[in-house]
Amino acid sequence: MKKQYIIPIFVPHLGCPNDCTFCNQKTISGQIKEVTPKDVREIVEYYLKSFKNKDRYIEIAFFGGSFTGIEKGKQEALLKAAYEFIKQKKVNSIRISTRPDYIDNDKLKLLKKYKVKIIELGVQSTNDYILKKCKRNHTFEDVKKASKLIRRKGFILGHQMMVGLPESNALDEIRTAKDLAKLRPKIMRIYPVLVLRGTELEKDYLNGTYIPLSLEQAVERCKELCYFFKKKKINVIRVGLQSTDTISDFQKNEKSEVIAGPYHETFRQLVETSISYDNIVNKIKKYDVKVKEVEILTSSENVNNVIGYKRANILKLKEYYDVDAKVKEDPLIKNGDIKINITKVYTDFLDEDDNV
Ligand code: SF4
Repeated sequence: MKKQYIIPIFVPHLGCPNDCTFCNQKTISGQIKEVTPKDVREIVEYYLKSFKNKDRYIEIAFFGGSFTGIEKGKQEALLKAAYEFIKQKKVNSIRISTRPDYIDNDKLKLLKKYKVKIIELGVQSTNDYILKKCKRNHTFEDVKKASKLIRRKGFILGHQMMVGLPESNALDEIRTAKDLAKLRPKIMRIYPVLVLRGTELEKDYLNGTYIPLSLEQAVERCKELCYFFKKKKINVIRVGLQSTDTISDFQKNEKSEVIAGPYHETFRQLVETSISYDNIVNKIKKYDVKVKEVEILTSSENVNNVIGYKRANILKLKEYYDVDAKVKEDPLIKNGDIKINITKVYTDFLDEDDNV
């Protein structure tokens, strides 16, 4: 299987005319340098030197919100710089992310010309009331139109949604997931809302009109969405914002742009840990005995999720079910799966006591 590499190029949409309440783009735009085609060439060359595996698939990803909202000449210059690497067979494809209302036939034609393969839409919610509340300035209808057009023109469609938006609850988020699944995206990103410095949401948070999700709530909500998307065979490629110098733990780093909300540096691992815990407990409950000790077999990639962040799953099994668990790698088990062997049941335990 080819090793997948992504070359991320952050293209802040400096001229974004929107003012989403959770976004700090307006306040930080003075601090961000505009990305030029020269930057694109340098970033790509830099990353290419660090990729060791020869059997590989490399993608240039223009991240940062609203690629197709950038002025057409600048957009084309950036695409051209990236496309040069495709022509030289050094890179395999390009992906971009943008807003649903910044998609039309002309914009897609330009992306097609430079062999863009994946388009991710920042949807956030499919509830128009919630979209309005956070001043997204687009509707679910825009999402439907853009998604259909993207797929019809042969691009791979991706969606990004948020949990914990103002006035949004767990049911709204499941509704969003269901609405989006009908539009048949291949990939999904889920971001819990963080309160960033300099945003309207910060003011709402400080005056008490917005209460962010706790870390536990965000993990639970994201977990339910992951279950749903798995059932629908939609690949969740990210859960939680990427940690950077500025998106970091606000309790440890005073320069963090985050001032509140469910931030965790390994947020996805918390969600995977929780999914693994449910999986283990469901399997144990199927045995009609009082389990005292188990051996959990899983693939090497999944061991950390089964054990859990800071051994969370092992400790919870002991605390809530009085079960001792040992986790072992098994190369025959498919990644993500687990197998449970009961190594001691409650009656064995009593027998041992009898022998003392
Ligand atoms: S989230 Fe995107 S569309 Fe909204 S203000 Fe920020 S950059 Fe603009």
